[in-house]
Amino acid sequence: MLDLLIKSALLPEKGYPVDVGISRGIIVDVSEHIKEEAKYTIRAEGKVLFPSFANMHTHISMSLLRGLGADLPLMDWLQKVIWVLEGEFISPEFVRDGALIGVAEAIRSGTTLFMDMYFFEEAVAEVAERAGIRAGLGFGILDFPTRVAKSPKEYLQRARGFIKAFKNHELLFPVVCPHAVYTCSPDTFRRSFELASEEDVYLHTHTAETQSEIEACLEKFQKRPVEHLHAMGVLSQKTLMAHVVWTTEEERELIRESGAKVLHCPESNLKLASGIAPVSDYLKRGIHVCLGTDGPASNDNLDMLEEMSLMTKLQKGTNLDASAMDARTALRIATEEGFRAVGIKAGRIEVGYEADLILLDVQKPHLQPLYEPISQLVYSAKSSDIDTVICKGKVLMEKGELKTLDQEEVLSVAKRWKERIRDFLKSKIFT
Ligand SMILES: [Zn+2]
Repeated sequence: MLDLLIKSALLPEKGYPVDVGISRGIIVDVSEHIKEEAKYTIRAEGKVLFPSFANMHTHISMSLLRGLGADLPLMDWLQKVIWVLEGEFISPEFVRDGALIGVAEAIRSGTTLFMDMYFFEEAVAEVAERAGIRAGLGFGILDFPTRVAKSPKEYLQRARGFIKAFKNHELLFPVVCPHAVYTCSPDTFRRSFELASEEDVYLHTHTAETQSEIEACLEKFQKRPVEHLHAMGVLSQKTLMAHVVWTTEEERELIRESGAKVLHCPESNLKLASGIAPVSDYLKRGIHVCLGTDGPASNDNLDMLEEMSLMTKLQKGTNLDASAMDARTALRIATEEGFRAVGIKAGRIEVGYEADLILLDVQKPHLQPLYEPISQLVYSAKSSDIDTVICKGKVLMEKGELKTLDQEEVLSVAKRWKERIRDFLKSKIFT
């Protein structure tokens, strides 16, 4: 008996509908007519089956700050808006409620794994567990005190406890997150890396995001950010670097040799005027590139379909070459490469792969006629065309309806926070 059977779905690679059988979260059969019974069956006539997305860099709880401080560059946005609001409001409750809104959005737009980096990640875990979505829970580490900890030593102690609590979970895994070279000293970076190595978990950080970061790093350490990470010994196959917009040839070789992964966030990099990462060059060199949205306050959404489309077009436009990144490559980066970066065998519709899947409803004027499902997913589809989302064999959304979260609850949580945050902002203006 199968756990889940998807009947008559169109596969992008095949011109005819197939059935997909799933057992214990794994794809066990992909064939024309599966006769085996299933506990649950989804009829997928007229829909195309794709792998689901892996959003490899976000701060999901920042959905509560979405829309604030738009049109500011990174440092102004952080110092004048984000850090002020976080200083006032950050708490387990803020993180949990922000994650609830973000996870609902992520599922609706076809994501089944997100790599998070923030504070009070226990609260993100609570929401992810309830939703049945995969998450890399990144314990943020800084040199300066916040409501989470007073010193780097205390952050690291708490991170160690956090790792112990979330190791060996089915869908969640702990990650060590020294924030960036401009917020963490070499000592903090080294200790973070030691902790990640001892516990055999990933290290996730922000790297080479803006030109001003490069200049400050050169001034302080006489090295550019990637060189600085290399010199501290923190580049490894388990190092995940978000952004990586500004790099020299030498730095690109350091990344390639170390096996560190690049988490590309094109939309955030454009909105904060940080620049455009040379990802087609990274790919040519054999660097492992994944895709992320960054936090929903700097994007301003968690829409991986939009991110994927933007990624390809930026590479075509900046290289003046329409073949600089094709749709198939973009889809692979947004799906399989993300899962693979953290050791999850998903992102393909093949027997033996984990069942992380979406169904796209193509019975819409903007998706017809349907000739090339992959290029039409990347260039024509909208995330609202995503009809069904499956994470490790569990149905999280079907026919556009969330199965594990209550959308009404999500909207009322957002409304409550909007009032609190708006009142605070008003009081700031008048004092
Ligand atoms: Zn970020």
